[in-house]
Amino acid sequence: MAERDGEASRHLGGFYGWIVAAASVRSPGSWARTAIPCRRRPGHKPCAGYLRTRAIDVPSCVMWTCERCNDNGLVRNWHRTSWNLRAQALQRERQCLEIVMTDRQYALLREGDPLPVIASAEPQRDGRVTLRASTSRLEQLLAYLAEYADLETSPSRQRRFLDLCDTLQDAVLQAQKPRRGAR
Ligand SMILES: [Zn+2]
Repeated sequence: MAERDGEASRHLGGFYGWIVAAASVRSPGSWARTAIPCRRRPGHKPCAGYLRTRAIDVPSCVMWTCERCNDNGLVRNWHRTSWNLRAQALQRERQCLEIVMTDRQYALLREGDPLPVIASAEPQRDGRVTLRASTSRLEQLLAYLAEYADLETSPSRQRRFLDLCDTLQDAVLQAQKPRRGAR
């Protein structure tokens, strides 16, 4: 079992960091499915499973396990890490938009700062990922992405960030259109 201690390393690496972020925005105490993909590559092929996490407050630990291959571990003292997003967790917002993206687009999002809107994403059955957020949260995310695209020196990566901006922008525009048949 892989163990990490948030006390010893406040800045956990991305893999453990996103586990803490995803657990911190979900209800404490119970297991929940996240959109964080498993990192294992049995037979040189990526495991297609997603991680399930369970945040425990006392003692402070996040348990995680892959739903497919059962790879699992523990992050102790998660409250003190910079990946604890509980204070900014999404409230049940009205007018939530749903954005469906590819796992590659979601991986790109996870290269940026941990935001609750990214951490709370959910996997779909077909390997794509759904983000749920209010228009204002999405606009905040769009602003971040535009900044990353701006700073990116590799043209191909810059294009991927801009494609992602387009996907989100489309969702926002779609939501602003008056719905046909709506009362
Ligand atoms: Zn796995």
